Amino acid sequence: MKPTHIEHIGIAVRSLDQAIPFYERLLGTSCYAIEEVKDQRVKTAFFKLGQTKIELLESTDPEGPIGKFIEKRGEGIHHIAYAVEQIEAALEKATEEGIQLIDQRPRKGAEGLHIAFLHPKSTFGVLTEFCEDKSK
Ligand code: ZN
Repeated sequence: MKPTHIEHIGIAVRSLDQAIPFYERLLGTSCYAIEEVKDQRVKTAFFKLGQTKIELLESTDPEGPIGKFIEKRGEGIHHIAYAVEQIEAALEKATEEGIQLIDQRPRKGAEGLHIAFLHPKSTFGVLTEFCEDKSK
């Protein structure tokens, strides 16, 4: 289950309209994709930085996961996503290790990736995502 690299870091923001221009200046690169992920009730904006992306997350619903996160903890780092080569095997291995899963099986995330979350209770407080690009 050894991840190959950090695929992206997810940052919860109140407003993409405000955060996108800031991150464009900070990173010196343009946001290359904005995508709504309906079942997560978020709008995402992506920046590429080498192999890694920065994913800004704006809630589309105060009751959604990002809405609740911001309500409780304010804006900030929401999750870290590791790229893995076989996500099903990685989840199986995580289960064997006693890691609590949020997603028992992979689902579709932004950018067509197959993703699954591990519970922060099992990962020293960091919401952790595995993702696999099956189009490769
Ligand atoms: Zn993510």
